[in-house]
Amino acid sequence: MATHEPGFRDSVDLMFNRAVRLMDLSPGLEQKIRVCNSTYTVRFGVRLRGKIETFVGYRSVHSEHMEPVKGGIRFATSVNQDEVEALAALMTYKCALVETPFGGSKGGLCIDPRAWEEHELEQITRRFAYELIKRDLIHPAQNVPAPDMGTGEREMAWIADQYARMNTTDINAKACVTGKPPHAGGIQGRVEATGRGVQFALREFFRHPEDVAKAGLSGGLEGKRVIVQGLGNVGYHAAKFLSEEDGCKIIAIIERDGALLNDAGLEIEAVKAHMAATGGLKGFAGATHVADGAAVLEQDCDLLIPAAMEGVIHLDNAARIKAPLIIEAANGPITYGADEILRKKGTIIIPDLYANAGGVTVSYFEWVKNLSHIRFGRMQRRAEESRSRLLVEELERLSADKGLGWTLGPDFKQKFLTGSDELALVRSGLDDTMRTAYQAMREIWHSRADVEDLRVAAYIVAIDRVAKTYRSKGL
Ligand code: GLU
Repeated sequence: MATHEPGFRDSVDLMFNRAVRLMDLSPGLEQKIRVCNSTYTVRFGVRLRGKIETFVGYRSVHSEHMEPVKGGIRFATSVNQDEVEALAALMTYKCALVETPFGGSKGGLCIDPRAWEEHELEQITRRFAYELIKRDLIHPAQNVPAPDMGTGEREMAWIADQYARMNTTDINAKACVTGKPPHAGGIQGRVEATGRGVQFALREFFRHPEDVAKAGLSGGLEGKRVIVQGLGNVGYHAAKFLSEEDGCKIIAIIERDGALLNDAGLEIEAVKAHMAATGGLKGFAGATHVADGAAVLEQDCDLLIPAAMEGVIHLDNAARIKAPLIIEAANGPITYGADEILRKKGTIIIPDLYANAGGVTVSYFEWVKNLSHIRFGRMQRRAEESRSRLLVEELERLSADKGLGWTLGPDFKQKFLTGSDELALVRSGLDDTMRTAYQAMREIWHSRADVEDLRVAAYIVAIDRVAKTYRSKGL
C-alpha cells in the first residue's frame, strides 16, 4: 500500500460507502452496519527459552447480526488493529454474500511463526486461545475462528483441544473452531476449500460469455495465461486446480524472494516441492528467476491472481497493471484508490468477498457437521442410496415387464448406489454456493445502470442481506 493512501480499514469502508450510496438505507442503519462492534486486544507473556516473551493479539467482532461470528486467526508480524478490523468487516459481507449464517470477526497474533519451534508455537497458541476462550471470543455458539495466513490445521487442533480442556461438559466443544484436521473433527476438503472456491468462481465467470467479453477475453479457461502472487495455501491450490484441471497456463509465480517465469506454464507441484525443500523460489530448474517480484504483477497476462496480502495493488502500480481480469484470492489485495484506477481502465475484478469465500463456506459445513454429531453425509448418503436403489429396481422391472432385456452393468450399479462420500458432498455444496452467489451479484451488475462493477454489486447484495436481518430483529 502506498503511504499516502487510506489504511486497509478505511479502504474497506470506502468500498462500503460506494455501495450504500446506491442503496436506500436509513443513515442510522448504514452506520450500524459499517462500524466494527468491538476489538479486544490482549498482551500476554509466555516463558520461552529461559525468558518471558510478550505477545500482542486481537479478536475483532465486526457484526453480530448473526451468531456465532466467524473469521480466521492470522499469525504474522504485520498484524495490527486496523488490519484485523478491516478483515472482520470483510467477513461480515463475505458471509452474507454466500449465505453462511454468521456475523463477521477476525483475529490476529503479532508473531513470526517461523521464528519458533513447534512446541513453542503450541504453547503460544494455547495461551492466546486461553485468553480468548475466557472471554467467549472462542465459543461454538458465539465466535468460531478458523485458519488464516500463518495458521492451519495444526493450530486449529490446539485451539479445539484448549477449548475442550476448559469446557469439559460442552457437548458441542468441537464446533468452537473450524479448519481442524479430519481426524480431530475437521471435514474433508477444508484445506483446499479457498483455492477450490477460486476455481469454481472462475468457472462460473467463464460460463457467461458476456462477462468474459467485458474483460476483453473470449472462450473458456483453457489456455488462459495466469500470474499467481503468493503460493501459500490459497494460491497453491488455486494454481494447482486451474492448471491441472482447467488447462490454464501459470506463466508466473510471485513469492517473497522474487518470481519464476515460464511462458510454457509452470508445474505447480514441482514449484511447491522446491519451495518446501529450499524455502524459496530461487534455484528452481526450468524457469527464469527474477528478483523483483512486484514488477511481475505488471506483466502481460490474461488473469492475475493476487493470493497473498492486502494492498499489493495500490495507487503507485495500478495504472501499470496489464491483466484485463483480476480475481482477488487474498483479502483486500487492491486498495480503494487502485480499484478506481483499474475500473476506469476497464479491468474486470472478481472481488475478495466473493472470490475467497470458499474457505468460510466449507467452514460452515464443518461447523454443522460438528453440531450434528453425525458422520457428515451419512444421512444424505442413506437417503440417496435408497432413492438410487428404487430407480435401479424400477428400471429393471420396466425392462422385464416390456421384455426389453435391459440390464444395468455391475460397475454402473456399484457407482450409482454409493456415489456420495464426504468430499463429494463438500465439493458440490461449495460449487453450488459459488454459482448462486455469482448469479446474485451478476443480476445486480447487469440489471442496474448505476452499478458499474462486480465489487459494488457484491457489497449491495451483502449489505442488503445484513440490513434485512437487522430490520427483522427490530432494529
Ligand atoms: N480466514 C478465512 C477467510 O478469510 C476463512 C474464515 C473461516 O473459515 O471462518 O475467509
